[in-house]
Parts: sequence; structure tokens; C-alpha cells
Amino acid sequence: MGTDYYAYAVIGCEVTGKLYDETGVRRCDCPIGPGRFCAHCGKSTALEVRHTPKTFYDENAHTIGILTVSFTTDYKRAFAGIRTKVSSEGVYSEKKGYADLRPIPNPADFFNVVKAELEKFDLWDPSSFGLWAVLHCSY
Ligand SMILES: [Zn+2]
Repeated sequence: MGTDYYAYAVIGCEVTGKLYDETGVRRCDCPIGPGRFCAHCGKSTALEVRHTPKTFYDENAHTIGILTVSFTTDYKRAFAGIRTKVSSEGVYSEKKGYADLRPIPNPADFFNVVKAELEKFDLWDPSSFGLWAVLHCSY
């Protein structure tokens, strides 16, 4: 364990607020009565917000189709696209040092690839398309 720092260069669109459905769910199945707490089990009667990944978003792989989703450290903003990254993953390599540098393949094609992929899921937003620098700290 340790602290890992990532710097992503993402060619794509911001998808903040578009990855999850939010639903209010009760915290218990008791018959609901008046008050802020359940008279039967003591749990709050306020609805709990449940975040369910939308069907196009693979939460475990952090992908939307062929695109990768990158989050800021606080997970408040998200960006989907083709990315490369530099990371300090805590393991030093004689050859690579702490950096893990990868090129973005075929950069001349990225606009059409990203646009086509995001359009499939109604996520294409020309006003947010661009090259984003996303920093992420994992701890
Ligand atoms: Zn209850």
C-alpha cells in the first residue's frame, strides 16, 4: 500500500454526472411511520441515495465501450476518452523509473473514434471535447 499519483492525458469529453442513475431507497423494510427514525428498528427514515452504474458504464474496468474513464482524486469529475498516463505506482523499475509512459495510438484518428463511441451512448458533447489533463491521487 502507499500513495500513487497519476497524471492522465485524456482526449475525450467530460462525463461528470452521466455515469450513474441515482435512486432513493429506504434503509429498512419495516412499515413506515411518522418521524425521522423507524419506530421498529431505529434506522433513519430518510431515503438513501443509491448510485447504479448506467448500462454502458463498466464500473470495474472504468470503461465505456472502448474508451477509458478517468476521475479526479475526489471523484467529482469524470472524463471519457482515449488516454495515456504517467503514474508513480510505488514500484521502481530500472528501465522505466517510476513513470509508466504509453503513447496514444493513431492520434490522427482520435476525434472520429471518440465521437463515434460516445455517440452510441448519447454522451457526445462537442463543447467539452478536447485534451484534458486529469490528476488522480490514490491513497
Ligand atoms: Zn425499520
